[in-house]
Amino acid sequence: MRRGCMSLGEVKCDICKRNIPYPERYLVVDEEGGVEVEKGEAVHYCIECALQKNYARYKEEKGERILTFFSEPNIASE
Ligand SMILES: [Zn+2]
Repeated sequence: MRRGCMSLGEVKCDICKRNIPYPERYLVVDEEGGVEVEKGEAVHYCIECALQKNYARYKEEKGERILTFFSEPNIASE
């Protein structure tokens, strides 16, 4: 399961280990052994790591780049 959150400055990315400063957004993904699951260990992703994992992407809207986190995929369908 994925949740998009806003950092209050106390969050660390579990992938690149950097601090995520307020008011940057980050993503929490339930994972087990590196695989996304319905309920597992909560892994924190900064925006860059989320982009690399294809958990997030930028979309262009009226000349602006807007960050969107992909909504929760239907895990059962795979
Ligand atoms: Zn990161």
